[in-house]
Amino acid sequence: MLNMTTGLSIWCSEAITLATVLLLAWRHDRQSPAYLMWAMGFAVSAIGFAMVAARGFVPDILSIKIGNAIALMGESAWIAGFRWMDKRKLQCSALLPPAIWLVGVNLPWVTENFVNRVILYDLAGAVGASLLAFAVRPRDGGHEPARGQLGVIFMTLASFCFISALWMSLRAPALEEAQIYRGYAALGYGLLVIAAIVLNGKLLMERSERRWRAISVTDALTGVLNRRGLQDSYEILAGDEQKPPQKLAALLFDLDHFKSINDRYGHQTGDAVLIEFARIARLFVPRNGAFGRMGGEEFVAFVPVGDQAEAEALAETIRADFCRAPLLVGRSLVAATVSIGVAIMPRDKVSWDRLVSSADRALYAAKHAGRNCTIVFGETETAKAEDAPPKTDIGELVPTLEDQIHALRRMGTLARM
Ligand code: GH3
Ligand code: MG
Ligand code: MG
Repeated sequence: MLNMTTGLSIWCSEAITLATVLLLAWRHDRQSPAYLMWAMGFAVSAIGFAMVAARGFVPDILSIKIGNAIALMGESAWIAGFRWMDKRKLQCSALLPPAIWLVGVNLPWVTENFVNRVILYDLAGAVGASLLAFAVRPRDGGHEPARGQLGVIFMTLASFCFISALWMSLRAPALEEAQIYRGYAALGYGLLVIAAIVLNGKLLMERSERRWRAISVTDALTGVLNRRGLQDSYEILAGDEQKPPQKLAALLFDLDHFKSINDRYGHQTGDAVLIEFARIARLFVPRNGAFGRMGGEEFVAFVPVGDQAEAEALAETIRADFCRAPLLVGRSLVAATVSIGVAIMPRDKVSWDRLVSSADRALYAAKHAGRNCTIVFGETETAKAEDAPPKTDIGELVPTLEDQIHALRRMGTLARM
């Protein structure tokens, strides 16, 4: 028959194995201190249970009071591990399980009575398991199904500890029966913790999968979407044809004379200009759109719009903001501008090739029109877009603020003549 010492010894060897595996995982990925915390949790738990199992061989104060407190500190370390995993601050509440034990065990009717000590231990364990369930609660915006399952396991563990305490207090078993029961309880606890470890592995896999996916669609320099990410976002935007607004605009951006910026100020400054442009454009592209880097000094935004004017306004806002935000690099001010080609298509007829090649042709026209301006191809021009060489005399040149000021100055000069 299973007795308390056997149950505790089984749990100790399980805990040492898990601590070793987690330590190896931490050595492999030192960026994740959570592994180290979980490993410490299992090591501490094994040491604590070993001290409890050594009762009779070591002084009672070490075995009963300190041993159980150390075992409960294992739960504190697991809670800390989950908080570290989410980059949350550690909280003192994680120390509640050993604190409850240390306060309770010094009460005379607990110190002297095995059953009361078991009840106290189980209640402290139930608090620890509830804190664990709270620590793994889903985060805002995160889609990690394993978190919910892990929460269920920890709540089951909390209920298990609580029911065990209740059963002990209602039945008040004799010492021998209580010790046998304790052996089974330790085994049940161990099995639930192993289930939690398995689900934790699933959670970590889901997280690293998400991280790799994010890396694979992100441009390393600017942090915006890369071409692959843009293609994915485009598919979603184009597929959402029932959702208003019903038109999709592509805004193709190309920084002007960027090669000269590199040549004059150096490649690093060129990089800083790219980062600054991405930062500014990102501020203005609405949340229902997508913005990213096509490559080099070319960027694109896909935005659902009600009409052409909306796409024009967005392009002009970004262009004007960028050219008015000269970048301070060292002691020199780097002035950079961007040319923009805009194309627009109804979402139910849209195709990547047509939309992007049309925006590209509009961009070519913008370069030809003198740069630092926006050219818009309306729906009719975009629908007609073919693979023919771009013409520079079609499209609509959006009058910029500078153009208008220039025109007014010219009118003033002419009026004085
Ligand atoms: P235009 O106004 O006609 O667009 O002229 P441009 O000089 O901007 O165009 P061009 O295609 O001649 O030059 C693009 C330059 O962008 C050349 C390339 O070295 C530079 N470039 C591409 N990717 C990067 C990058 O990641 N960082 C930096 N600093 N430069 C880059
Ligand atoms: Mg270019
Ligand atoms: Mg360029």
